[in-house]
Amino acid sequence: MEIKCLPNICLRKKAAKVLNVTDDERQILDEMAKTMYLKSGVGLAACQVGIGKQLAVVDIGAGLLKLINPVITKKEGAEAQEEGCLSVPEAAVKVKRAKKIVVEYIDEQGGARRLIAEGLLARVIQHEADHLAGRLIIDYLKPLKDSSFAA
Ligand code: ZN
Repeated sequence: MEIKCLPNICLRKKAAKVLNVTDDERQILDEMAKTMYLKSGVGLAACQVGIGKQLAVVDIGAGLLKLINPVITKKEGAEAQEEGCLSVPEAAVKVKRAKKIVVEYIDEQGGARRLIAEGLLARVIQHEADHLAGRLIIDYLKPLKDSSFAA
Protein backbone atom coordinates (compact mmCIF):
# COMPACT_ATOMS: atom_id res chain seq x y z
CA MET A 1 0.00 0.00 0.00
CA GLU A 2 1.09 3.52 -0.71
CA ILE A 3 1.15 6.03 2.15
CA LYS A 4 -0.70 9.25 1.40
CA CYS A 5 0.98 12.39 2.57
CA LEU A 6 -0.17 15.93 3.06
CA PRO A 7 -1.87 17.65 1.29
CA ASN A 8 -3.79 14.51 0.21
CA ILE A 9 -7.49 15.14 0.86
CA CYS A 10 -8.05 11.59 2.23
CA LEU A 11 -6.21 12.63 5.40
CA ARG A 12 -8.81 15.27 6.19
CA LYS A 13 -11.93 13.16 5.71
CA LYS A 14 -13.81 11.60 8.58
CA ALA A 15 -13.63 7.82 8.18
CA ALA A 16 -16.86 5.85 7.90
CA LYS A 17 -17.86 3.34 10.54
CA VAL A 18 -17.50 -0.31 9.59
CA LEU A 19 -20.94 -1.93 9.82
CA ASN A 20 -19.95 -5.49 8.97
CA VAL A 21 -16.51 -6.98 9.42
CA THR A 22 -15.84 -9.05 6.31
CA ASP A 23 -12.84 -10.57 4.54
CA ASP A 24 -12.42 -7.15 2.89
CA GLU A 25 -11.72 -5.47 6.21
CA ARG A 26 -9.49 -8.33 7.35
CA GLN A 27 -7.46 -8.09 4.16
CA ILE A 28 -7.12 -4.32 4.41
CA LEU A 29 -5.94 -4.65 8.04
CA ASP A 30 -3.33 -7.26 7.02
CA GLU A 31 -2.06 -5.07 4.18
CA MET A 32 -1.98 -2.05 6.51
CA ALA A 33 0.06 -3.99 9.07
CA LYS A 34 2.56 -5.00 6.37
CA THR A 35 2.84 -1.39 5.24
CA MET A 36 3.30 -0.15 8.81
CA TYR A 37 6.13 -2.64 9.47
CA LEU A 38 7.75 -1.85 6.13
CA LYS A 39 7.85 1.85 7.07
CA SER A 40 8.94 1.10 10.66
CA GLY A 41 5.85 2.88 11.97
CA VAL A 42 4.08 2.13 15.26
CA GLY A 43 0.61 2.81 13.91
CA LEU A 44 -1.33 3.32 10.71
CA ALA A 45 -4.88 4.43 9.98
CA ALA A 46 -6.79 3.42 6.84
CA CYS A 47 -7.10 7.00 5.57
CA GLN A 48 -3.30 7.08 5.37
CA VAL A 49 -3.53 4.51 2.59
CA GLY A 50 -6.53 6.21 0.98
CA ILE A 51 -9.28 4.06 2.51
CA GLY A 52 -12.08 5.95 4.24
CA LYS A 53 -13.01 3.32 6.82
CA GLN A 54 -12.50 3.30 10.58
CA LEU A 55 -9.63 0.82 10.57
CA ALA A 56 -6.27 1.16 12.31
CA VAL A 57 -3.29 -1.00 13.16
CA VAL A 58 -0.93 -0.40 16.07
CA ASP A 59 2.25 -2.12 17.22
CA ILE A 60 4.60 -0.46 19.67
CA GLY A 61 6.67 -3.64 19.88
CA ALA A 62 4.27 -5.51 22.14
CA GLY A 63 2.18 -7.21 19.48
CA LEU A 64 -0.10 -6.20 16.65
CA LEU A 65 -3.42 -4.61 17.48
CA LYS A 66 -6.12 -4.30 14.84
CA LEU A 67 -8.74 -1.74 15.69
CA ILE A 68 -12.10 -1.36 13.97
CA ASN A 69 -14.32 1.61 14.90
CA PRO A 70 -12.13 2.59 17.88
CA VAL A 71 -13.76 4.99 20.36
CA ILE A 72 -11.87 6.43 23.29
CA THR A 73 -14.33 6.29 26.16
CA LYS A 74 -12.12 7.47 29.01
CA LYS A 75 -9.05 9.68 29.34
CA GLU A 76 -6.81 10.24 32.34
CA GLY A 77 -3.84 12.50 32.93
CA ALA A 78 -2.01 14.56 30.35
CA GLU A 79 1.46 14.50 28.91
CA ALA A 80 3.11 16.40 26.05
CA GLN A 81 5.49 14.48 23.83
CA GLU A 82 6.94 14.86 20.39
CA GLU A 83 5.24 12.79 17.69
CA GLY A 84 5.90 12.06 14.07
CA CYS A 85 3.56 10.83 11.38
CA LEU A 86 4.16 8.82 8.22
CA SER A 87 1.76 11.17 6.41
CA VAL A 88 3.54 14.32 7.56
CA PRO A 89 7.15 13.47 6.74
CA GLU A 90 9.90 15.17 8.69
CA ALA A 91 7.53 16.96 11.05
CA ALA A 92 7.87 16.51 14.80
CA VAL A 93 5.14 18.12 16.85
CA LYS A 94 4.75 18.20 20.60
CA VAL A 95 1.26 16.85 21.28
CA LYS A 96 -0.48 16.86 24.63
CA ARG A 97 -2.45 13.66 25.10
CA ALA A 98 -4.02 11.61 27.87
CA LYS A 99 -1.57 9.29 29.67
CA LYS A 100 -4.11 6.57 30.16
CA ILE A 101 -7.15 5.73 28.07
CA VAL A 102 -9.93 3.23 27.70
CA VAL A 103 -10.64 2.36 24.09
CA GLU A 104 -13.60 0.37 22.83
CA TYR A 105 -13.37 -1.22 19.41
CA ILE A 106 -14.37 -4.17 17.25
CA ASP A 107 -11.82 -6.89 16.58
CA GLU A 108 -11.29 -8.58 13.22
CA GLN A 109 -13.73 -11.35 14.13
CA GLY A 110 -16.42 -8.73 14.76
CA GLY A 111 -16.26 -9.00 18.56
CA ALA A 112 -16.62 -6.00 20.87
CA ARG A 113 -13.42 -5.28 22.81
CA ARG A 114 -12.34 -2.92 25.54
CA LEU A 115 -8.71 -2.11 26.22
CA ILE A 116 -7.00 -0.04 28.88
CA ALA A 117 -3.82 1.52 27.49
CA GLU A 118 -1.12 3.66 29.04
CA GLY A 119 1.99 5.51 27.93
CA LEU A 120 3.15 5.05 24.34
CA LEU A 121 0.35 2.63 23.48
CA ALA A 122 -2.26 5.14 24.68
CA ARG A 123 -0.51 7.87 22.68
CA VAL A 124 -0.42 5.88 19.44
CA ILE A 125 -4.09 4.87 19.75
CA GLN A 126 -5.04 8.52 20.29
CA HIS A 127 -2.95 9.49 17.25
CA GLU A 128 -4.72 6.89 15.07
CA ALA A 129 -8.16 7.88 16.42
CA ASP A 130 -7.28 11.44 15.38
CA HIS A 131 -6.53 10.23 11.85
CA LEU A 132 -9.94 8.55 11.63
CA ALA A 133 -11.50 11.91 12.55
CA GLY A 134 -9.41 13.77 9.95
CA ARG A 135 -7.06 15.32 12.51
CA LEU A 136 -3.29 15.54 12.09
CA ILE A 137 -0.41 16.37 14.42
CA ILE A 138 0.07 19.75 12.74
CA ASP A 139 -3.34 20.73 14.13
CA TYR A 140 -1.70 20.80 17.56
CA LEU A 141 0.81 23.47 16.57
CA LYS A 142 0.20 26.57 18.63
CA PRO A 143 -0.96 29.47 16.50
CA LEU A 144 1.52 32.31 16.37
CA LYS A 145 0.32 35.06 18.68
CA ASP A 146 1.71 38.01 16.79
CA SER A 147 1.67 36.46 13.38
CA SER A 148 2.18 38.77 10.48
CA PHE A 149 0.19 36.22 8.48
CA ALA A 150 -2.94 37.01 10.45
CA ALA A 151 -5.76 38.44 8.39
ZN1 ZN B 1 -0.06 9.65 11.75
